[in-house]
Amino acid sequence: MAEKKDYYEVLGVSKNATADEIKSAYRKKAKESHPDLNKDDPHAEEKFKEIQEAYSVLSDESKRKMYDQFGHAGVGGGASAGGSPYGGGYTNFNTTDFDFGDIFDSIFGGGGGFGGFSGFGGGRSSGPKVTRGSDILMRMDLDFDEAVYGCEKKFNLDVIEDCDECHGQGGFDKEECSTCHGSGTVTTQQQTILGSFMSRTTCPDCHGTGKTYKRKCSECNGKGKVKKNKKITINIPAGINTGDRQRVSGKGNPGSNGGENGDLYIEFVVGDHSYYTRENDDIYLEVPLTLTESVLGCKKDIPTLYGNVKINVTPGTNSGDKQRIKGKGVDNEYRNHKGDMYLVFKVYMPKKLTREQKELIEELSETSLETEEIKDFQKFTKEND
Ligand SMILES: [Zn+2]
Ligand SMILES: [Zn+2]
Repeated sequence: MAEKKDYYEVLGVSKNATADEIKSAYRKKAKESHPDLNKDDPHAEEKFKEIQEAYSVLSDESKRKMYDQFGHAGVGGGASAGGSPYGGGYTNFNTTDFDFGDIFDSIFGGGGGFGGFSGFGGGRSSGPKVTRGSDILMRMDLDFDEAVYGCEKKFNLDVIEDCDECHGQGGFDKEECSTCHGSGTVTTQQQTILGSFMSRTTCPDCHGTGKTYKRKCSECNGKGKVKKNKKITINIPAGINTGDRQRVSGKGNPGSNGGENGDLYIEFVVGDHSYYTRENDDIYLEVPLTLTESVLGCKKDIPTLYGNVKINVTPGTNSGDKQRIKGKGVDNEYRNHKGDMYLVFKVYMPKKLTREQKELIEELSETSLETEEIKDFQKFTKEND
């Protein structure tokens, strides 16, 4: 890796420069050194890139902090600041690069298994850092019945795994890395306002292993990992609800330097039912009653999740009255819990009556039907007058 210049020096600002100072310095420098204006300078493009890189780090508060503390190693040592600390060898495996269908985002350490700062410790330790791959979160829609009764789901997923051809090595015929002479690290000179000093970073050619291969594996292009489209089958237990997660071990992002894959987490989103409303493991069902059913009471067949049951509706049932059927909610295998069913009655008054029905009701209204609540209201009305 070529020796890197101090970013502050590149932009010509002090270490204490404000964000605005950095911005205007960058604008000035970028204009001056634009390759189109410096056709005579063979290094123009390189300089221009250097300025872009410096600005990309110093204009980002968190990257700037890392840079101040750890130098180039802290921001990935390359133009891909925040990207792979290993010099880009594996960045192809970031989640954004493979197609998961409609669903995914990566959780933990955004930007995939190699992002973040997981590897910058390589600047101090001698060996390659073994890192477990990050987990992936995927959302899956289930319809109401699938969630309540459980189901089997199959889907295809691109998984990054060790290359079969080279057994994850990336090549054949091991030999000592010529860049670092087998040490796994390289020494670079860092320029800071305090002067220059030497720092050790992971060798970009062998990624700290100290070994390279005479023959690169053509199957995986030397990466040791390949994308495989796998058919995944999962058994979803009865009782899953929106927000519940299921883990599929080892199907997350790939690890680095022999680290194992992360896991795949599937988070469920459960659809609605046209009649049932689910609240945790309890099920609510509106039960419509006629005028006479509500007044006189009745026997009724109730469709539950597990077949019909007969219930008695007590005489004088009002709209909004509830009745519980114990244990007829969701039988939740996942939580080992059984919910209840709640019937919510609603009286539907007829909008049209036959002449005969009307006469009967009128006859009924002659009798005293006032409940305590109605009498109380009548009293209030009178007092208010
Ligand atoms: Zn291979
Ligand atoms: Zn090396």
